[in-house]
Amino acid sequence: MAEPRASPEDSLTRLHPEPPSLAEAQTAIPTGIVQQAVLNFENRIASHSPSDDITLIERSLTNVDNLIRTGDTYAGHLRLAEALSLSHLTTGLINFLRDHDNMYRCAVRSRHAANIASPDMDLLTRVDRRLVNLRNVYSLNIITETRSPHAWQRMRAQGQFEREIRELGAALQDETIRILLRMDTLLPHLAEPVEMENIGPDHDIDDFGREIQLSAADAKLQEGNALGQEVDEHDHTRRCCICLEAYHGPEHPAFFLTRCGHIVGKPCMANWLNSTARNANLCPHCRTPQCARRPRRPVRRSLAEREEQGELELRLRRSGDLMRSVSEIHGCLYGREAVRDWFDDAMRALNERFFFEGVGFVFVADESTEVGWRLRRADWGAAAMLD
Ligand SMILES: [Zn+2]
Ligand SMILES: [Zn+2]
Repeated sequence: MAEPRASPEDSLTRLHPEPPSLAEAQTAIPTGIVQQAVLNFENRIASHSPSDDITLIERSLTNVDNLIRTGDTYAGHLRLAEALSLSHLTTGLINFLRDHDNMYRCAVRSRHAANIASPDMDLLTRVDRRLVNLRNVYSLNIITETRSPHAWQRMRAQGQFEREIRELGAALQDETIRILLRMDTLLPHLAEPVEMENIGPDHDIDDFGREIQLSAADAKLQEGNALGQEVDEHDHTRRCCICLEAYHGPEHPAFFLTRCGHIVGKPCMANWLNSTARNANLCPHCRTPQCARRPRRPVRRSLAEREEQGELELRLRRSGDLMRSVSEIHGCLYGREAVRDWFDDAMRALNERFFFEGVGFVFVADESTEVGWRLRRADWGAAAMLD
C-alpha cells in the first residue's frame, strides 16, 4: 500500500521537494484510468496560471468537508483510492486523486515562487508570494489530517510559522512607512496654506515710479553707523523697508513710488510687486495700492506627481490588503482574539513610528470598518499638547 504523497509531517521546510513524477504516480496507483487522470492533470497544470491555485485549494477543502460528512478521513480515502484497481475506481475517487495532486503541486509551486523572489523584486510581491505559500502549507497540513486539530497545533508549536508571520508583518509596516513618507512630500499638509502662482505677464517696475539719487542721505547713514548713533530703521529715505539695507549703486538704487511718494529699493519693490503675496500690489510702507493685484491661482501639481500619488495610494491599499491576509493566517493558527490583539499592536507600533519618523498620518480606531482602524491626516502638534 502506498503512502499518501503529502504526509501529515509535511511542513514549510519539509515539503516534498518535487511534485510526484508520472512514474512515481504509476507505481503508487497502477491503473490505466488513474494514469489517464494524471496525464489530463499534467496538461491542465501546464496551461493554468498560478492565480487559479486558490480555486484548486478550495476544491480540496470542499473534498475534506464531504469526507467529514461521510465520516471518512482524508488519509484513509487517499489510501483507498491508491489501493483500488482500475475497475473499482469510481469517478469520485479519480476526482479526489486529481484534486489531491493539484493541492500538492500548488504547495510545491508556491514554495518555489516564494524562494525565487529576489531582493530587488517589489517588496509587496515578495510578501504576497510568501503569504500564498504559508496559506498553502497550512491548507495542506489541515487537509492531510482531515482537519484534525493536531495539524494546526503542531504548526503553532513550530516557531517558524510565527516567525514568518512576524517577518511579513514587519516588512509591511516598513513599506507602509515608506509609502506614507513619500505621500507626505506630495500632498500639502492640511495646516499649510494652498500654494499660489501668478498668472499673466510680470509688472514692469518702471511703470510705478523712478530712480532717485540719495547719495547724501546714504553717506549720512554710513557716518551715523560708524559713530554708533541710533539710526531710524524706518526712515524710507535712508534704507529700503523691504531688505533694511541702505540704498547703494546700481544694484540697490532708491526708487520713488509715484502713487504715494515713498522710497524703496528698486529691485526689492520689483520682486514684491511680482511676488505671490496676497497684498503684493500695496506700498510696503503705507499700503497704498500701486496697481491691481496680479491674478493668481493655486499651484497645480504636475501630471507626474498626480500619477505618483495614485500609484502610492494603490500600494497603500495593497499593503493594507496583505496586512489583512497576514492577520487571517495568524487567526487560523492562533485564534481570532489573538489576531485582534496582534492587529491592534501592529497599528499602535505604526503610529509610534509615524510620530518618530515624521509621517503626517495616523491610524485611528474606527469600529465601523472591518479591521477597526482607518488612516487619517495627523496633527502631531495638537496630539503632543494633549499628552
Ligand atoms: Zn531693498
Ligand atoms: Zn507708500
